[in-house]
Amino acid sequence: MTRFGAHAFIWQASWDRDAAQAAIEGAARAGLDFIEIPLLRPERFDADLTRQLLDDAGLAATCSLGLPADAALPDRPDQAVAFLERVLELAHRAGATALSGVIYGTLGVTPGRPPTVDELGTIAASLRSVAGTARTLGLKLGVEPVNRYETHLLNTAEQGLELLDAIDAPNVFLHLDTYHMNIEEKGFEGPIRAAGDRLGYIHLSESDRGTPGTGNVHWDDVFAGLANIGYDGDLVMESFVAVNPDIARATCLWRPVAPDSDTLVREGLAFLREKARLAGIA
Ligand code: MN
Repeated sequence: MTRFGAHAFIWQASWDRDAAQAAIEGAARAGLDFIEIPLLRPERFDADLTRQLLDDAGLAATCSLGLPADAALPDRPDQAVAFLERVLELAHRAGATALSGVIYGTLGVTPGRPPTVDELGTIAASLRSVAGTARTLGLKLGVEPVNRYETHLLNTAEQGLELLDAIDAPNVFLHLDTYHMNIEEKGFEGPIRAAGDRLGYIHLSESDRGTPGTGNVHWDDVFAGLANIGYDGDLVMESFVAVNPDIARATCLWRPVAPDSDTLVREGLAFLREKARLAGIA
């Protein structure tokens, strides 16, 4: 069954006690099923507190991240695998069901050339190992292609599916994001149809990261694709009303794109719920 969620950075730029409480309250107030929690800094992440706050609010959770530079793929596979395994333990303890995002690279780091076959092989082998750990914890692992300005490694759904083939683990899914698709893909419906049942998660983000329904994303094509594949995964709003310094250089969001967090979620969610209802997927 599809679930609606939203990224915590819509409300807060960090995940300390006060920020976690405020973001979870915002998501619960909006009537969402789950919140996507940034796990960029595991050393500062309080899994037990997070689980308690989620339970109190009756919310489910997923976690997401980009790799830090000192545990980057493809350059430091041992460190990256150790980092991701530590994050998986924390995500599991917090009660999350999946870890997704740019788990294959570091946002904003590009070497000025395309990825090599060796680099992609290292990424696949590392994530195959991490997927095994995730499986023992009952967690799914997602891979999110992002636009060319944020990584050289995976920009399109097709590249994501090739990586999934190379990883070859049953608990790894493709995670698409309409903001990145608007930059990289020829359209919205084709890549979603190509992904089929390997699409497990989608960030429904507007072309300027503002309120869904107010920009250039072709939403009818997005939902036609989701309806065509009988999508039953997660539908997730992602914006950055609050900008975290760890990802600010990658997201390059230098001005407000929505009036405020609650307005963005209220108006965006109403728009997306109606599209999902008309498409017969919610
Ligand atoms: Mn995204």
